[in-house]
Amino acid sequence: MADETDLTRRKLLAAAGAVPLALAAGRAWAQVAEGQPMPGDAAPQPALPGEQMRWAVVGLGSFGVNQVIPGFGDALQSRMTAFVSGNAVKARTLGARHGVARFYDYANYDTMKDNPKIDCVYIVLPVGLHAEYTIRALEAGKHVLCEKPMASTSSECEAMIAAARANGRQLGVAYRVHFEPTNREARRRIAAGELGALRHVQCDHGFNANPQFPPHKWRLEKALAGGGSMYDIGIYGLNTSLMMLEGDAPVAVSAVYAYPRDDARFAEVEGGIDWRLTMASGLNVVGSSSYCYSPYASRQRYFGATASIEMQPATTYDDNNLVMDGGGQPRREIGAGNPMSQFAAQIDGFSEAARANRPHATPGEMGLRDIRLIEAMYRSADAGGVVIEL
Ligand code: NDP
Repeated sequence: MADETDLTRRKLLAAAGAVPLALAAGRAWAQVAEGQPMPGDAAPQPALPGEQMRWAVVGLGSFGVNQVIPGFGDALQSRMTAFVSGNAVKARTLGARHGVARFYDYANYDTMKDNPKIDCVYIVLPVGLHAEYTIRALEAGKHVLCEKPMASTSSECEAMIAAARANGRQLGVAYRVHFEPTNREARRRIAAGELGALRHVQCDHGFNANPQFPPHKWRLEKALAGGGSMYDIGIYGLNTSLMMLEGDAPVAVSAVYAYPRDDARFAEVEGGIDWRLTMASGLNVVGSSSYCYSPYASRQRYFGATASIEMQPATTYDDNNLVMDGGGQPRREIGAGNPMSQFAAQIDGFSEAARANRPHATPGEMGLRDIRLIEAMYRSADAGGVVIEL
């Protein structure tokens, strides 16, 4: 290997065309490989492992395995250190693949309090279990990010918020759409006044529930699901439209049920609901939510005085679309970034909030607000669609 003086001399000679630049492995090469400074445009790099927030993922089901765990693979401020599952074989198999070596089940869950290598807990259980497992984690001294919808009832949500306060920990609800680039771009454009004054908002979300498919089965059982389609899928229209309309607030709500009453799938929870929020500004937000739509529906429209935004799909994992129309320009599709980044962005956003012990962008209070609104929708629908003043 040439020392630095020798290399400099050879470079000077090479520049003068006197000798080949590099001599290696007994052969002469024209160029030399040498290290350079960090690229000026380097992408953000992961924090050092010791500086990352450490997470336990609770419930290794469809969403946990297919979206949450891969989301940690892209996270920069966060890493998984534990799994909580009722299926030890599954947990250990996944642990071996993802570098997770600490395992809990639902019985020894509270002993997480003795593990200082868990800072945050991500609850990915059926809704009817959210309140219990959130409160137990908060009492174990962990920050908690809980999947949507926050819980079965508003009183459970209130108990979760009280537990977070009592234990001095942060509580977030996993409204991933707040971290999704297409929706963030729509929000930015609406806030910047690019649509003029908003005149009407419409949101439709649904899919066809299959009682034979395990992740759908519990969604049709009130004790585990809390509510019906509005809890599970309609909540995307509710929460996302309220995100887009920041600064405005609902003052009245009404709803009617909208599903075949003789459909055996919906003995315990509603199969569909059409709803309306009237905002303080006078704007109406109308939505539909259904377990009877086919194909899968995820559509939102924001109509303004000078332009409109259409999003279809609006809130999926990997494929959201934003079309602007009006504002003196031709109808056009707006690119905004990879939707798949929403999972890591949400996890890192919560890690940063937890580290600073400040509220997450989508705190427990937001989850409580949404459950209270859905409860008001059900009261309205039970009474035949009466308007409920909030
Ligand atoms: P799954 O049925 O696929 O998984 C739920 C997991 O919870 C199970 O695999 C099991 O994990 C655990 N569990 C514990 N007790 C029960 C029980 N009595 N019945 C069923 N499961 C139980 O559901 P999903 O992954 O679809 O949903 C989980 C949560 O994620 C829900 O809150 C849902 O609303 C939310 N979700 C959020 C989405 C989003 O886009 N933000 C999308 C989809 C779901 P184990 O075997 O490890 O014990």
